[in-house]
Amino acid sequence: MEKSVAVIGAGPVGLFTALLLAQRKIHVIVIEAGEGIDQSPRAVAYFPPVLEEFAKVGIIEDVIAAGEKNADGCDWRNADGDLLAGIDPPPNDSTFAVCLSQPELGEILRGKILETGFAEIIFNEAFQRLKQVDGSVVYWTKNKLNDHETERTCRYLVGADGGHSAVRKNLDINLEGYTFESFQFVAVNFRYDLRVSGWKAANFIVDPVDWGIVVKRGRGTSWRFATGVEKSATQKLTSVDEATIQLVKDRLRRILPGDTSEIQKEMFSWLEMQRT
Ligand SMILES: Cc1cc2nc3c(=O)[nH]c(=O)nc-3n(C[C@H](O)[C@H](O)[C@H](O)COP(=O)(O)OP(=O)(O)OC[C@H]3O[C@@H](n4cnc5c(N)ncnc54)[C@H](O)[C@@H]3O)c2cc1C
Repeated sequence: MEKSVAVIGAGPVGLFTALLLAQRKIHVIVIEAGEGIDQSPRAVAYFPPVLEEFAKVGIIEDVIAAGEKNADGCDWRNADGDLLAGIDPPPNDSTFAVCLSQPELGEILRGKILETGFAEIIFNEAFQRLKQVDGSVVYWTKNKLNDHETERTCRYLVGADGGHSAVRKNLDINLEGYTFESFQFVAVNFRYDLRVSGWKAANFIVDPVDWGIVVKRGRGTSWRFATGVEKSATQKLTSVDEATIQLVKDRLRRILPGDTSEIQKEMFSWLEMQRT
């Protein structure tokens, strides 16, 4: 069946867009190149204006149930983890944020989209190119498992395929802004009991070199450390090498209190740094 809207990319932007459309009974097909929702460490917290949008589409209870409510403000610390300054929320403030890792949000969105009966999500299928004709869009995707190419038609096509968007490139649209050539942003998920040491859910590490954030990413002892790593011209920014992993581990050990041999590292990810 021809779907009215094709959404390319099942990241948070694509999935949320698809949910809004499907809830209005508009047929949507979501095309995702990955084999499932991207599981790499990415966003971790959703603040009141975002939670209002979650409430409108009926996912707020699921997000709160899966994540952890946070209303304890934030702290600034140096690279040894010592407290520099902090902000507590005003008294009687009923607003809160929810800490939940992006893949878990993606799974909630996926479930809600499919419940509508107006959407289909296809994984392992990469958008290739498009042609705009007579008020519709013809587009081609390639199955990543068997290289088979499929042609489809839709009324509108939404490019939600991330920073390197193939849809954007197909339309000859430039990515605005500036990419740092020698900086890589590296994120690691880890488990450690930081609450016993009195750490808030959000901590900004202030240092000219070892800067970063240490934030709660969900329930229990789930945390995230994200930091910037300077690279030489010859080092690749498209993967995270052993030296970088070691550097990030060393930074984390320096920042965190207590017996850091207890830290359990779970997953690394990275991206190029861009300024817009
Ligand atoms: C290491 C890291 C840490 C981050 N930490 C935070 C954080 O703490 N807080 C925060 O707010 N944000 C964070 N971000 C940013 C946040 O993850 C992004 O802003 C968000 O993912 C953007 O959503 P999106 O849907 O636009 O794109 P993406 O999440 O990139 O999703 C795009 C999707 O499109 C798919 N795709 C790509 N090309 C094709 C194609 N040709 N055909 C079909 N599908 C395709 C990809 O597989 C992907 O699933 C982080 C990002 C990274 C990389």
